[in-house]
Amino acid sequence: MKKAYNFNAGPCVLPKEAIESAIAAIRDFDNTGIGILEISHRTPGWERIMAETEQLWRDLLNIPEDYAIMFLGGGASTQFFTVAANLLNKKAAYLQTGVWAKKAAKEAKNFGEVTIVASSEDKTYSYIPKGYTIPTDVDYFHITTNNTIYGTEIKEDIDCPVTLVADMSSDIMSRPVDVKKYGMIYGGAQKNVGPAGVTFVIVRKDILGKVERVLPTMVDYRTHYPEEAKNHSMFNTPPVFPIFVMHETLTWLKKLGGVEAINKINKQKAGLLYDEIDRNPLFVGTAAKEDRSIMNVCWVMAPGKEALQDEFMAFAKERGMVGIKGHRSVGGFRASLYNACPIEAVEALVATMKEFEQLHK
Ligand SMILES: *Cc1c(COP(=O)(O)O)cnc(C)c1O
Repeated sequence: MKKAYNFNAGPCVLPKEAIESAIAAIRDFDNTGIGILEISHRTPGWERIMAETEQLWRDLLNIPEDYAIMFLGGGASTQFFTVAANLLNKKAAYLQTGVWAKKAAKEAKNFGEVTIVASSEDKTYSYIPKGYTIPTDVDYFHITTNNTIYGTEIKEDIDCPVTLVADMSSDIMSRPVDVKKYGMIYGGAQKNVGPAGVTFVIVRKDILGKVERVLPTMVDYRTHYPEEAKNHSMFNTPPVFPIFVMHETLTWLKKLGGVEAINKINKQKAGLLYDEIDRNPLFVGTAAKEDRSIMNVCWVMAPGKEALQDEFMAFAKERGMVGIKGHRSVGGFRASLYNACPIEAVEALVATMKEFEQLHK
C-alpha cells in the first residue's frame, strides 16, 4: 500500500485498530453471521454497542448523569438550526471566530434575535477576540472552540453567566473538558472521533423543553433521549456504521489513557510543528500565537518567499504528505493533527520542511 501521511482537516485519520475492527465487523458482526452493514439496529449486540458508546463518552469526558448524549445524523451543520430551535426563545449571543461560527449564527437568526458579541473577521479570524462581555439577557451564548479553517482555539472552558453552547467539532476529545460549564456540546464526529455520518450532542436535560414553538419530532432533542428508555438515539435508524467506528475509536482512546494522555501527545505534536514554522525562515504561522490550535496548524510562505508555495506543495506531496493545502480563505498550508495522527507523521512533515529549507538557502 502507498505510504501516506494524512493531514486532512476532515474526514480525518483514524486509528488503525478502529479500521481493522471495522473491516472485520463488515464481514461478521458480533458472531451473528451477518455483517454490521446488514444487521438490524434492534439486534441485542447492536444495542450493547450503543450503550457502550454512550458509556465511553461519559467515561472519557466525565459527563454527569443529568446530561443526555445522543448520536444523530445531519452533521454539525444540522445542529446550527437544531440548537436554536430547541434553546432560543427570544435572544442568543454568538462569538464569531470563523465561518462555521458565522454559519451557526445565521441559522439561529431564523428563530430569534442574535447578537454577535465579538468577531475576528477583520483579520481573517486569525485570533480569538478577548475582553468581550457576554450579555445576561440571552437564552445562551454560542462558541466554536476550535476554528478548523484558521487554526485558532479556545483552549479553556470559559466562565459564562448564561447557558454555554459549544461547537466542538474539531477539538472534541483532544483535551479534558469541564462538561459542567456547558449547557450543550455538539459536533460532527469526522474531525476527531470517527468517520463522517454521525453527530454527537451532549445536552443538560433541564435546559430542554423551555421554548414556546412547536418542534418537529426529529428536531426535538427529547425525542432521541427518552427519559426512561434503556436505549437512546434509537427513535429512528441511527447511523449504525459510523457509530460502530466511533465506538472503536473511543475504545482505542480509552486504552491509550483517555483525554489527559492524548492531550499531552497532541501538545507535543503541535509543538514540534509550530517550533519548526517559527524556526524555519521560509515559513510563518498565520494564527495569533496565544490562540494557536493544537488540532489544526496553519502557516504560509514567509514574506518574499511566496513564489515557492507550489514548489513546497509538490515537494511535500512527493514525500507522502496528504491534505496540507490551506483553506482557500487563508491560503498556504494547514496540517490537521487530530488524535489518531501519529507523531511520526509530524516528524516526517518537519523533516520535509527542513529539507526544503536546505534547497533554498
Ligand atoms: C467541519 C465543521 C463543521 C461542519 O460539520 P459538518 O458535520 O460537515 O456539518 C462545523 N463546525 C466546525 C468547527 C467544523 O470544523
